[in-house]
Amino acid sequence: MIDREVIKQITEIVGRENAVEDRETRICYAYDATNIHHLPDLVVFPRTPQQISGILKLANEHRFPVVPRGAGTGFTGGTIPVEGGVVLVLTKMNKILKIDQDNLLAIVEPGVVTYDLQQEVEKIGLFYPPDPASLKSSTLGGNVAECAGGPRAVKYGVTKDYVLGLEAVLPTGEIISTGVQTVKSVVGYDLTKLMVGSEGTLGVITKIILRLIPLPKAKRTMLVIFPSIESAATSVSQIISSRIIPTTLEFMDNATIRCVEDYLHMGLPVEAGALLIIEVDGAPEALTGEVEEIHKICQANLAMEIKVAKDNQEAEDLWKARRAVSSAVVKLNPTKINEDVTVPRSKVADILRRAEAISKKYGLIIVNFGHAGDGNIHVNVLIDKRKPGEVEKAHAAVKEIFQSALDLGGTLSGEHGIGITKAPYLPLELGDMGVQVMKRIKKAFDPNNILNPGKIFPDAVKTTTH
Ligand SMILES: Cc1cc2nc3c(=O)[nH]c(=O)nc-3n(C[C@H](O)[C@H](O)[C@H](O)COP(=O)(O)OP(=O)(O)OC[C@H]3O[C@@H](n4cnc5c(N)ncnc54)[C@H](O)[C@@H]3O)c2cc1C
Repeated sequence: MIDREVIKQITEIVGRENAVEDRETRICYAYDATNIHHLPDLVVFPRTPQQISGILKLANEHRFPVVPRGAGTGFTGGTIPVEGGVVLVLTKMNKILKIDQDNLLAIVEPGVVTYDLQQEVEKIGLFYPPDPASLKSSTLGGNVAECAGGPRAVKYGVTKDYVLGLEAVLPTGEIISTGVQTVKSVVGYDLTKLMVGSEGTLGVITKIILRLIPLPKAKRTMLVIFPSIESAATSVSQIISSRIIPTTLEFMDNATIRCVEDYLHMGLPVEAGALLIIEVDGAPEALTGEVEEIHKICQANLAMEIKVAKDNQEAEDLWKARRAVSSAVVKLNPTKINEDVTVPRSKVADILRRAEAISKKYGLIIVNFGHAGDGNIHVNVLIDKRKPGEVEKAHAAVKEIFQSALDLGGTLSGEHGIGITKAPYLPLELGDMGVQVMKRIKKAFDPNNILNPGKIFPDAVKTTTH
């Protein structure tokens, strides 16, 4: 619990309307997109880095936790205030400060919604590619803190590939600027890259300098139905090795197709083994050849049906299937444990086979979809917590899925981060020394463990998962 006198001082820093203590508000900020929750003592909406600095200085003096939060769409519990304290909601710092057309960059506050920046820059023929499926609600601060990716990562990379520099308030309250507004720079350690993906544990991001690129002139979208996972996975490898890098190569397995069809009734063949949504973009004259080549590869791999959208509206219709996945699959069982393991692209079929074997071994429903083009498969274990033993089985299955990804040369998380839910598995990938080095970095930034405690490191996590 934070002392009343300290709450008074926080209120003086941000103003009464921006420091909220009532239970209803605190409940709203106790959750994210996981099933974990914990009440904060106070919800604060800062407007300036100086206000955040003041709060963090108080936090070090009086030893209470501070947890940064954007839109709360995180999938690993990163915003849950597991030890109480202040939730610092950045959504009111939401200005696009500058779009610099000469230098192809944007400077934004952390609370800007991802889609809003994309809309603004596209109006003037520029492009900010990172596109998490949550882009209409997630914030750029949250994207940077998680190093969010999305379907377009296969061609354009992820958030870290666009962050040139940051302003951040350190856990001890000092304000620093990292990075540059130039195309290159090699000045000391790359603190910008260290902050990106640090899940709100090393600093509160208050300003972001983002690289922009020219908006591609045209795009073509295809939906391809396959008889088996193998034929879809082989098509993915062959498309990439034929030197075509599509903008997106999204995958859905049979269980996912069935869920989406049941949800949307859009005529997807429920007997299909898998489907791919493939998009290419670039100069219009180049796209026809690429679409033809992809067509040939898919046909050679026994594609059952290939639809090519004729216009934007048809393309949007094809994307409907992919966008509905998250809502559709939870109809199978109420609790979704969504892991985003990533394997080398050539191992997509292997990880899917292993997930199927694990599903059979534990008698659990596992559905798979995701970004096949960059090997990032969302393996979703769907459970009913009311059934005895189901949670324990799910945890054992998840551990085997992680181990399988690592055995195939992959990683625990392609884009969702570690947070609370994956923390127990961190040493599997990093080893003890890797974890130790990261802990030393955390200690150097945050000697009193004020900023977002209870995250990333296995021994820091006190809350049960899922
Ligand atoms: C339906 C759905 C689809 C999704 N699809 C994708 C996807 O395709 N790709 C993907 O990568 N993710 C996806 N996500 C996960 C999530 O949207 C991303 O991780 C996103 O980047 C989180 O942004 P946010 O603003 O909601 O951050 P929050 O959830 O509020 O916070 C996430 C983490 O960032 C920290 N943080 C937030 N703001 C700041 C700040 N200003 N300074 C320092 N730390 C901060 C928090 O402490 C927390 O640890 C999806 C989520 C949902 C619900």
